[in-house]
Amino acid sequence: MVGVSFPKRNKMMTSPNSLAVENLSVSYPDSKEPALQKVTLNVAASSILSIVGASGSGKSTLLRALCGLESPASGTIKLGGQVLCSSAKFVRPDRRKIGLVSQSGDLFPHLNVFQNLGYGLTNWRRADRKTRCKELLEAIGLPNFEKRFPHELSGGEKQRIALARALAPRPPLLLLDEPFSNLDSNLRQSLRRLTADILRKEKTTTIFVTHHPEDALSTGDSIAVMDSGTIIQCDTPRNLWRNPVSPVAASLFDQINQLPSSNFPNWLRANELELVEESHGGFTSGIIHEIEFFGKTQMVYVKIQNNLTPVIVEVASEEKYQIGSPISIKRKRLKAIQSKRLSTEHKQGICF
Ligand code: ADP
Ligand code: MG
Repeated sequence: MVGVSFPKRNKMMTSPNSLAVENLSVSYPDSKEPALQKVTLNVAASSILSIVGASGSGKSTLLRALCGLESPASGTIKLGGQVLCSSAKFVRPDRRKIGLVSQSGDLFPHLNVFQNLGYGLTNWRRADRKTRCKELLEAIGLPNFEKRFPHELSGGEKQRIALARALAPRPPLLLLDEPFSNLDSNLRQSLRRLTADILRKEKTTTIFVTHHPEDALSTGDSIAVMDSGTIIQCDTPRNLWRNPVSPVAASLFDQINQLPSSNFPNWLRANELELVEESHGGFTSGIIHEIEFFGKTQMVYVKIQNNLTPVIVEVASEEKYQIGSPISIKRKRLKAIQSKRLSTEHKQGICF
């Protein structure tokens, strides 16, 4: 598997550019709850860790703390074996040399593309700076853009330049905070693939925060799931998809139905259910309440008596259902329906 290593538990990794975070907590003044609570995670050198989590779960705070833009209340951050933050030490943000790309890219508006790219390369020889900028502009598919100013770029071009600028000084760690979220879906997908390709070629250790499940699953060597300032699960994309630790983790990747806790498993994906006529059995019955048509598929919402939330069933787009009709719901026979419980190691958010 590319870039994923399996370090011994509780051992901080020391290979070049690997990141080790232990028990990191951050509190904002005037906030009752800490924004980060004892976050522990490891990112292997040259690998990509995707982070997903609901809005407000602490993703940006984690990235800001890694850059040194927040002062943690406690915890340790080590990059390539060098301590960046501990109870005894705090390395200033500019000395950490960590690259960060935000949702808006934040290019310097008064500098052209070449000057933006060269911003972090002031100590480089002029010829090397030129070669590096040229090489990156080629890589992002924007050769000959050196003289353009940010106001002469489209949203997607700005984000590509922001990525190249962050990569230019070959940072030991690159942090991407939802860099493509403001772009339309097609552009987002193509930039995601381009970015993953460049990161692998440059062998850059990267944390990629995204709220798009397919971006996280397709790009990350591993994925960390955040909830209320903690990491509730960290695993490879396939393991995480097969065995989400909780309905919260599952719901970040798919439309799910939470079932009463007496059921096992106590949640099922909308595509793990099927609709059958009432006479054909099923584990429950109800009335079709709403249908959402998405082209490739459709979601049918079935209201069950005494159930506040409707059960959602994903069906093929060519199937025809009528709002108000009685219907039964059956569990599909799929290998993918997992009932395995995860080990405590995953629950503690130990990431590899
Ligand atoms: P995410 O990036 O996952 O949406 P954030 O890290 O931005 O989440 O926020 C985590 C929590 O910290 C939220 O409850 C948010 O309101 C709070 N928070 C973020 N930034 C600040 C700040 N500068 N001052 C006070 N609270 C903040
Ligand atoms: Mg954020």
